[in-house]
Amino acid sequence: MSKLLLRTALAAASPGTDKAVLLLAGTAEARQLADLLVTDGRLRVISSLAGRTIEPRTLSGTVRIGGFGGVEGMASLIRRENVVLVVDATHPFAVQISANAAAAAKNNGVARVALVRPPWTRDGKDDWKEVGNLEEARDSIAAGSRVFLALGAQHIDVFAERDDATFIARMVDRPDHPPFANCKVITGIPDGLLAAEKAMLSAHRITQLVCRNSGGDKGFAKVAAATELGIRVIMIARPPPPAPPHLATPDEVMEFIDAAFSP
Ligand code: NAP
Repeated sequence: MSKLLLRTALAAASPGTDKAVLLLAGTAEARQLADLLVTDGRLRVISSLAGRTIEPRTLSGTVRIGGFGGVEGMASLIRRENVVLVVDATHPFAVQISANAAAAAKNNGVARVALVRPPWTRDGKDDWKEVGNLEEARDSIAAGSRVFLALGAQHIDVFAERDDATFIARMVDRPDHPPFANCKVITGIPDGLLAAEKAMLSAHRITQLVCRNSGGDKGFAKVAAATELGIRVIMIARPPPPAPPHLATPDEVMEFIDAAFSP
């Protein structure tokens, strides 16, 4: 259906019309896709960030930052900018923006695809405890643990109830206020190297890791490091995925666009 919508929009556009793709970003895959789309050049690229990080990494395209103002805000940008395709390349745990994208595209009769990076799956070595949400993760922590929280800043308050454990939370930016008394914040973007993650977990004498099943090779380094060090992993399962269609990689999105352009 989405491919048909895109094909129809491309066919209906008069020559020279400045058609655009709206790329909802905030992930490494979105950055890769923005590069591919800009290099491809057939669609004007509007790359959108929520504005959660103070200094976001470089992103190709015309970058806009900040919320749209809900479904109607995104819908009006779609109309104003002559958007013929919305690519939802947001994080698998960013549920609201994905729902908004699906509704805004549908209401405008515009094609949408979701770039959904595959979740991590266990192999023989992995022995993580899977939980459904942050509260279950909090309740799964053993008393007396030193816990590494690989979660965004907005997701750690729930652990404040556990005054019988010590927490280290890694964030991109230092928060204005320390989260809670027994939680220390470290900042930085991990480089995805196993040795670095092992060194970091060892330096903080971590005994339990709490993370979300975000998927992606770089993010898995902390899980692999914890497994090798015998650190217990508490893995928060993904929320329901965005509405289909789903594509797994930036290249698959480009193939989708190619197919819609080809006669
Ligand atoms: P969310 O709960 O799904 O979205 C909340 C609101 O933030 C949306 O309704 C929208 O505001 C705005 N928003 C979110 N993504 C946007 C985007 N790409 N461009 C413009 N506005 C956006 O999202 P979240 O979990 O707070 O995540 C925010 C962003 O950070 C996402 O883009 C995501 O890709 C990225 N990110 C999230 C995580 C995570 O763990 N959730 C991790 C890494 C990166 P309006 O309703 O006003 O339009």
